[in-house]
Amino acid sequence: MNIQTELFLKSKKLIPGGVHSPVRSFKGLTSTPRFFKRAEGAYIYDVEEKKYIDFCMSFGPLILGHRNPIVEKALHEGLERGWSYGACEPYSLELAEFLLERIKYVEQLRFVNSGTEAVMTALRLARGVTGRNKIIKFNGCYHGHVDSMLIKAGSGLAGEAEASSAGVPEGIAKDTLVLELGDIEGVKKCFEEHKNQIAAIIIEPLPANNGLMVQPIEFLSFLREICDQTCALLIFDEVISGFRVAFGGMAEITGIRPDISTWGKIIGGGLPVGAIAASKFIMEHLAPIGKVYQAGTLSANPLAMTGGLATLKQLTPENYKKISEQTKKISNVLTNWMHSYNNGQFAMFKITTYASLFWIVPKDNVTKISEIPENLTENFNKLFEVLLEKGIYLAPNAYEVGFVSLAHDDSVIEDLKVRLG
Ligand SMILES: *Cc1c(COP(=O)(O)O)cnc(C)c1O
Repeated sequence: MNIQTELFLKSKKLIPGGVHSPVRSFKGLTSTPRFFKRAEGAYIYDVEEKKYIDFCMSFGPLILGHRNPIVEKALHEGLERGWSYGACEPYSLELAEFLLERIKYVEQLRFVNSGTEAVMTALRLARGVTGRNKIIKFNGCYHGHVDSMLIKAGSGLAGEAEASSAGVPEGIAKDTLVLELGDIEGVKKCFEEHKNQIAAIIIEPLPANNGLMVQPIEFLSFLREICDQTCALLIFDEVISGFRVAFGGMAEITGIRPDISTWGKIIGGGLPVGAIAASKFIMEHLAPIGKVYQAGTLSANPLAMTGGLATLKQLTPENYKKISEQTKKISNVLTNWMHSYNNGQFAMFKITTYASLFWIVPKDNVTKISEIPENLTENFNKLFEVLLEKGIYLAPNAYEVGFVSLAHDDSVIEDLKVRLG
């Protein structure tokens, strides 16, 4: 038995399904999860020393690549100062100041430990500020594993929904209304049927957790307008898109200002950090000033703050441009190969890109779930296995996007061509 299979068997004994997060499980695939032991730049090495070009990049945080030397140096220095105080420290102020000086549509922020935690706090805050309970979310947007976000569309009235996970009480599901992306009429109807009850609309302004479903700007500006008209809050969940598509995320790109932003992933540069940001008025509803409770033993962990700041400081406009260009080149190389490989076995695939994100899918311009081809997984799984064999690592699921980092330079692209053969 090979060492990876052995580790997976051991892992399944110790951990449910052998994984700490379900998307790592290679569910539906013929191979078992790779176990990685180290990484460097654009590359990740499994326990058998096989080297892969990494297009998963920890699902997004590593926009500079693995072990970026400047981040690594800052972390080493950070270690020597101790790694948790549970008290006030200057490191989070440095990071907060750096962010707030550059992102003008928010005035204050608070650090938490994950994207899920940021969303959980944003929802509570929106409810606390408005005194309303209901939240509108969209089918195909992921907002972490918060109870009230593990909800799918029901079959009845507009927006009616049910839990998509066991363990989420009906009482929680009933306050989440689920609509289809782009459904302007549905959103209007929802506001009419639940007059003065909707606290917030939450959306990934660039939905990138169920494929990459770029939204028309008109839809996002409609959401802004209807929130203004109804005194509901607009939450942009930019845990993936924040600092990825531009420093100020989709809010910067579209010019549409959310009332509350949630950040994660890149903001910690690969260490566990999330954040909620908004106006001073909204943020001061949080404890200890306000009545909305929120807390965290490890929040604004000094080491994570240091890693985040050292990462964000390198995100210059030139670097964003460079990563986007590399993404286009990579997309072209992969597309050409897919169209010629094995008599066109993968010729149905195209690649949608947005900044440094890409999604392999047999269709252009997917903007909502119903436009995603049904047999996507079956075809993707075959593609995944062929690429894995060639030492090219994608996220092990057809609905996950690919991530390109600053470390994916031209030499990596040459290597990609060689690996594809
Ligand atoms: C990843 C993600 C989350 C959850 O963040 P975690 O750090 O995994 O808890 C929430 N929202 C969006 C848009 C995400 O991409």
